[in-house]
Amino acid sequence: MLTGERYRESLRDGRVVILDGRRVDDVTKAPELAGAIDWVADTYDRYVSTPSGAHPMYDIPASVGDLRRRIEVLLDCDMTASLSAAVLALASSRSPLSAADTRYGERIDVFIEECRRNDWRVAEAITDAKGDRMLPPSKQHDPDAYLRVVERRPEGIVVRGCKMHITAAPLVHEIVVLPTKQMKRGEEDYAVAFAVPANTPGLTTVAVTTAPRQRDERDFPVSRHHAVPDGTLLFDDVFVPNERVFLAGEVEHSSTLAHALGTWERTSSIAGSAREADLLVGLAQLVAESNGIERVPHIRDKIAELIIYATMVRAGVEAALNAAYGEGDDLRPDELFTNVTKCFASMHYHSMLRNLQDIAGGLVLTAPSHADLDDEEIGDQLRRYLQASPSMSGTDRLRIFHAVRDLTADALGGWHMVAKIMSGGGMYAQKMVARNHFDMAAARRSAAQAIGLDLPTRP
Ligand SMILES: Cc1cc2nc3c(=O)[nH]c(=O)nc-3n(C[C@H](O)[C@H](O)[C@H](O)COP(=O)(O)OP(=O)(O)OC[C@H]3O[C@@H](n4cnc5c(N)ncnc54)[C@H](O)[C@@H]3O)c2cc1C
Repeated sequence: MLTGERYRESLRDGRVVILDGRRVDDVTKAPELAGAIDWVADTYDRYVSTPSGAHPMYDIPASVGDLRRRIEVLLDCDMTASLSAAVLALASSRSPLSAADTRYGERIDVFIEECRRNDWRVAEAITDAKGDRMLPPSKQHDPDAYLRVVERRPEGIVVRGCKMHITAAPLVHEIVVLPTKQMKRGEEDYAVAFAVPANTPGLTTVAVTTAPRQRDERDFPVSRHHAVPDGTLLFDDVFVPNERVFLAGEVEHSSTLAHALGTWERTSSIAGSAREADLLVGLAQLVAESNGIERVPHIRDKIAELIIYATMVRAGVEAALNAAYGEGDDLRPDELFTNVTKCFASMHYHSMLRNLQDIAGGLVLTAPSHADLDDEEIGDQLRRYLQASPSMSGTDRLRIFHAVRDLTADALGGWHMVAKIMSGGGMYAQKMVARNHFDMAAARRSAAQAIGLDLPTRP
């Protein structure tokens, strides 16, 4: 297994990364990526002596207990751990893909074993550029709007296109590419799944990050450690050897992978949301105390709403795990509970931020910096006026406000606001799954019975 230092070395592999319009020759030297790399390296160091010889993020859950352990591991690790959802999606899809071509299943097994043995981190690359949203891949004005196979050779395939919004792309070893949705007949070239190393020729990662830039890190207590880089991946005629091709043309299986990724990705997401929600509750309580208003009825009411949100999200996670279905390699959290919880967390997140910011007040945006407090002439005055109650110093109160701004009203806060809505395919995708899995027939029946109606036939 890799140590943090060996992880850093492994990133110096000639990968092509562009950040803010400049080529980054060595990602470990880019200050904008330093916090995120430190975060991943710290996970490596903490898990280097795992008894099984592989990071537990790659353990394929076979029981509800395993699912619970997976969640605990994800929450204990950096942002790349949840991306192992891509590997679990491959494992869950192994049987159906093997039915199409036994070599797909064998290659999946080999790839998963390599991820474990080499202690790799992977990115999940599913979202295409997509062009005109109302047109299918084969009818787009630009045929590469969805990533596709442009050449088939005896030893592999050549792919072209773009995958967007790919979390942690500049920091991982392997990019797992999956088709974004169900492809139809005539769209065989778009039904493609594979894995390539991050430094593979023809692949360029255009990176963005929520890391604080050239500012005092004390003012960014969350994002200085937990910044999230994302990437736009340009595949400019990338060759993929057969050993790494998991699907290449069988349109009927394109949604198998997208579906499996959706479940695993949304499970990680709701577990993260439950923890974030607890953090919002804690911050709301702290900031209320720092302002001396924690007993005011409307403040207590807003904190109660935050508690209800946090508890409902946690209950949804519990329900999804307890109602897991399938067996062996294909045990999955319950899809209805997972998707409904994901959608619920997304729908109400912004109102919860509103509660927190309303409790906190304008200092969320206008708090002086820690450097201002260091100033010999005005530091004491600032500390004096920042103090609101005898039980908390002005400096501690300032730290709370910077945390609220960093998490809810600055670059990382903006990332969370958009990611909460769009990640895992957006609320529309979760509502579709909810409709598909909800027992509508039973609901109709009981409604009809309740009002004494002969069950009307469906149109
Ligand atoms: C911070 C962040 C991290 C992400 N990480 C990853 C990642 O690691 N890997 C990955 O693959 N993806 C990732 N995503 C992508 C995420 O899954 C997508 O944002 C999501 O699938 C929506 O795609 P889009 O952004 O292109 O928006 P669009 O698909 O353009 O959606 C925008 C709106 O248009 C609606 N819409 C779109 N098409 C139609 C249609 N045909 N009919 C009706 N309405 C339509 C949608 O419902 C939505 O309301 C990430 C996104 C974010 C914001």
